[in-house]
Amino acid sequence: MLIDKHNDLVQKLHAMHLNIVHSRIHKLKTLGNLKSPCFVKREDELSFGISGTKFRKYLSLLPHILEDSPDQVIVIGSAFSNNVLGLSQRLIENELTPLLFLLGASTPKLIGNFLLTSLFVPSDQIHWISRIDWPKVEDITYQYTQENSSQRFFIIPEGACMPEALPGALTLPLDILENEKIENYEFKNLFIESATGLTAIAVILVFVWLHKTTHVHVLLVAGQTKIFLEKLDHYRKLFEKFMATDLPWECVLRQFSLHIPSINRSFGAINSAIFMKILDVARHEGFLTDPIYSAKLFLETERIIDNYKLTGPNLIIHSGGALALIGYQTQLRKAWKLAGDNLR
Ligand SMILES: *Cc1c(COP(=O)(O)O)cnc(C)c1O
Repeated sequence: MLIDKHNDLVQKLHAMHLNIVHSRIHKLKTLGNLKSPCFVKREDELSFGISGTKFRKYLSLLPHILEDSPDQVIVIGSAFSNNVLGLSQRLIENELTPLLFLLGASTPKLIGNFLLTSLFVPSDQIHWISRIDWPKVEDITYQYTQENSSQRFFIIPEGACMPEALPGALTLPLDILENEKIENYEFKNLFIESATGLTAIAVILVFVWLHKTTHVHVLLVAGQTKIFLEKLDHYRKLFEKFMATDLPWECVLRQFSLHIPSINRSFGAINSAIFMKILDVARHEGFLTDPIYSAKLFLETERIIDNYKLTGPNLIIHSGGALALIGYQTQLRKAWKLAGDNLR
């Protein structure tokens, strides 16, 4: 019965010419313990230049844009956004013109993700929106499209959080089921960070729908609980329509817990502990994490497992985004010096 349901969704996505792209998982050595072993899902390996969450969202979003065949694609976001950087690449690859509406009063320093984005998008295709006007950015872009009505536009909101990205995001929970099948066990807990929340929401909805016992721990690196719940309910209804099913709200609420970072609560807030974690993970696990998303998730996952005495196996989603590290060389050097040879 559940296998049938699972196949229904796979078939539906295949009918949209959407493949369930695969990333591997492997065991971690320094996180978790014997009772609670931890595994990592290497979504960072899906693409060198595009973070894993975004790579999946674009699987369904890009065909929509191509079908619409606009003259320009407006992408809204921060100058350092992984979505702005990632989508610019996919648009250029497909001969579409990105037009960026970025948060900032004037051109910021050419550093980090913004430097990389600038390699793809020339500055005359960038509009700067001040922090004061930022809450109205969607109205401003809409007005821009009205004033330039001879051209056709497709507008991508912050983080590509839009219904067209949902089918792509749904490939993540399906691929987790594939990992479980390969390894022949079921995860008790899953850890994932949330910014717009769409990726975490996709995981929660599919797990509820398939009556999976895996509990989803969502780390809110951005956004508020209230907004996350509103979005969850909104996408729950879309999923119900998409699969012609019922997902009762009580069942959805039982599937997950929300966690607020214990340190550096606000989005983008970082401190030296995060850079020490990046070094620690590199030395002992052999992969890179970024300070905004993954290193925060790794830090907090350790705390959550301890605090709630969770038993495993646990799966941590490494969503990618490590290219952002090029903007943090000073902090990385400092962490390297601090660690010295103590951190073997
Ligand atoms: C964009 C991004 C997220 C957040 O994904 P949402 O679907 O917006 O919650 C998390 N991690 C990384 C590395 C990202 O690039």
